[in-house]
Amino acid sequence: MNFEEIKSAVNHLTKTSKCMQCKSKYTGKSVNLIATTKTEGLFEMKCPKCECSTIVTVLLSTDLKIQDHNSRTHLGISQNDVLDMKNFLGKFDGNFKRIFTKEK
Ligand SMILES: [Zn+2]
Repeated sequence: MNFEEIKSAVNHLTKTSKCMQCKSKYTGKSVNLIATTKTEGLFEMKCPKCECSTIVTVLLSTDLKIQDHNSRTHLGISQNDVLDMKNFLGKFDGNFKRIFTKEK
């Protein structure tokens, strides 16, 4: 994803997502980029109200429009969540993982 695509992905997320716990709307500031590939972005969304975190993947379709996103909710980050995230990232290609490691 390039910068423009990341920006529109964040836009899309803030427009279409609500906190699963308290139903608050996310703001641009509550969305953090974790990693991207050419066609996918992995974002962490933190609720401004109850601080519960959600890990979201955004897929770009072939015409580079945002297609869909899946989300998982985390109530705080525990050791298990970190392992979970590693497993989750492991499903993607090596590139994805490398970017993630480099940014850490
Ligand atoms: Zn919330």
